[in-house]
Amino acid sequence: MELLELIDISKQFHVRSGGRRATLSAVDHVSLTVRPGTTLGVVGESGCGKSTLARVIVGLHLADDGEMIFDGKQVLAGKRRTPTELKRMQMVFQDPSSALNPRATISESIGFPLQVQGTPKAVIADRVAKVMHDVGLPAAYASHYPHQLSGGQRQRVNIARALALQPKLVVLDEAVSALDKSIQAQVLNLLSDLQEEYGLTYVFISHDLNVVRYISDDVAVMYLGQVVESGSAQELYDNPKHPYTQLLLSSVPTLDPAQSTRDEPVDSIDSTEIPSPIDPPSGCRFRTRCPFAMDVCAQTAPPRITIADDRTVACHLYADSALPLPHSQEV
Ligand code: SF4
Repeated sequence: MELLELIDISKQFHVRSGGRRATLSAVDHVSLTVRPGTTLGVVGESGCGKSTLARVIVGLHLADDGEMIFDGKQVLAGKRRTPTELKRMQMVFQDPSSALNPRATISESIGFPLQVQGTPKAVIADRVAKVMHDVGLPAAYASHYPHQLSGGQRQRVNIARALALQPKLVVLDEAVSALDKSIQAQVLNLLSDLQEEYGLTYVFISHDLNVVRYISDDVAVMYLGQVVESGSAQELYDNPKHPYTQLLLSSVPTLDPAQSTRDEPVDSIDSTEIPSPIDPPSGCRFRTRCPFAMDVCAQTAPPRITIADDRTVACHLYADSALPLPHSQEV
């Protein structure tokens, strides 16, 4: 059984654009599953909706539509969110500094969610000591304040705070993006160790394809609010199907001189080439950047089809590759 199942989740925001009211479709009919004890990486360029999706999962945004099943229980149906089991989901944010109260000591910050839950003080003290040890923070740091710690140590505090409530699912939203590369590697290894020790399931949101590949079992690629491809990390990286996934992967720098990469990193083409999610292209949202676009791509949005076990793609190029029912019911 899956630990987390998202079914047709949508989230819109009402914004003002050019002096008029507009609707921004941040997450558009997203369906995903996450197996217990594994990591689902969600990757895409800035503005693709991955962080909004993360916030919907943990309840920081209410969805407009869709359903969410967590640990066998329905916790979201349309706009209705059931608080049951919410404390079993925790989130780690990108900026380790702003996620901590500068006036609270490290032990107070880590123990705060337990305090809110009415946990006895002795239990809080024990739990705080254990999670600090588990994330590699010396016990002496308990009385320190966030400004006395490095960025990597502050992110360890945030991870410890997430662990304090003994969650089943941790959503990590660009959790290592603000860290130096050497610290990134340490925190990624820590996350892997904690996953094993605590039996955790991760949803790992990132724009960094190398980082996602390193930590993920499965990967979903998002573009303008939609999942365009998903599959096991190995298959998706070794054999990307969707033209957008191919574009993303072709822009990842490689140290192998035998392999060429695009001249421009993908971050440098973001702002000029991504259409606005307020007024996305008709049909396939990627068609304005796709080298394979056909007439049908402007007229009809490609359905997300299953082309192999646990492998989906939303592109007209694969219209004849869909597996027969019942697999193709998975959208
Ligand atoms: Fe390109 Fe058409 Fe596939 Fe979209 S549906 S990715 S435009 S080929």
